[in-house]
Amino acid sequence: MNAQINIAILGSTGSIGRQTLDIIAEYPNLFRAYMLVARRSADLLIEQARRFKPRVVIIADESLYTSVREALQPLGIIVETGDKAISDRMTDSVIDTVVTAMVGYSGLAPTIAAIHAGKDIALANKETLVVAGEMIMQMLQKSRSRIYPVDSEHGAFYQCLVGERHDDIDKLILTASGGPFRNTPAGQLPHMKAADALRHPNWDMGAKITIDSATMMNKGFEMIEAQWLYDIAPERIEIVVHPQSIVHSMVQFRDGSVKAQLGLPDMHLPIRYALGLPDRRLYTDRGKMTLADYANLTFEAPDFERFPLLDTAYRAAETGGNAPCVINAANEVAVAAFLNDRIRFTDIHRAIEYTLEHASFSKQPTLDNYVNSNAEARRIAQQFIDNLNPE
Ligand code: MG
Repeated sequence: MNAQINIAILGSTGSIGRQTLDIIAEYPNLFRAYMLVARRSADLLIEQARRFKPRVVIIADESLYTSVREALQPLGIIVETGDKAISDRMTDSVIDTVVTAMVGYSGLAPTIAAIHAGKDIALANKETLVVAGEMIMQMLQKSRSRIYPVDSEHGAFYQCLVGERHDDIDKLILTASGGPFRNTPAGQLPHMKAADALRHPNWDMGAKITIDSATMMNKGFEMIEAQWLYDIAPERIEIVVHPQSIVHSMVQFRDGSVKAQLGLPDMHLPIRYALGLPDRRLYTDRGKMTLADYANLTFEAPDFERFPLLDTAYRAAETGGNAPCVINAANEVAVAAFLNDRIRFTDIHRAIEYTLEHASFSKQPTLDNYVNSNAEARRIAQQFIDNLNPE
């Protein structure tokens, strides 16, 4: 009888975190939720902790610490607070696997700590590899850590590449749903509101990633992640719009053959695969598909005119250095402003281009350079937004 795998979920109250807990509940003999981390959703965190009885709970927002501690300490749960506590806990020898499902740049520091501690990482925080992919891949080479992608697209690449040789890859074909504004005419895009975008057709996702899907920045970020995860140059990663989200991505090989991975658009599938690795072992009766129900699987080239952030992402990837870090930081600021109705949808692209133009560039950034670059890019993007919208 093997011991359970102890899992730390960074971002347990978000969409991926909640679905990860579903999987843990489905395989109670295999997995234990050892540690739960949330930033602000204290009530849900407390509810999750009562149900899953983790050893450790961290509420990142310090103003919520007292209420979480008062609720959970009587149950014998260790309650901590602050971003540093999250990174410090990564050295906890009980933790086997870290699910990094926090939103945005804040996922970077704990991921680095988890790599240093040699943990397996189920990577759901895409900003980590967007911001610092080159550095992270170098760190991984010196660590026992392995990264298992949780994203449906990267999980698809992973599965298509099992048993294949890197030299045989011609290109990666990254599928995109096209987002909520796939058919919105260019002239209407400036008038689109956050609420319009949040009605996403296929995937149940958090607010930030839904806006990233609407601008297709999400796909640009996934292209940058794939570049690092699979060591493929950006120009050999092709994006194709596939609105049904049944083909999760494909790999074309040099003999002309294409392998695709299919499944229902349900994040439980890639989470189940990532948590089961290195083997496909988490069998289930859920989420089986009948292909005849999906008689029309369509594919089309993305529209770089209406979704100019795709071009921004390719340029940043080809520039390298801290350029992807800059666009990520500017995007976080611009998306937050859009969600608060402070800027128009099309201003997200303008803010990011402006920031990319004005931020300082470093070709071989260290961790300190990334930290500074993130802060500088946020300042520049915020200035641009304040000038657009003086208040
Ligand atoms: Mg995805």
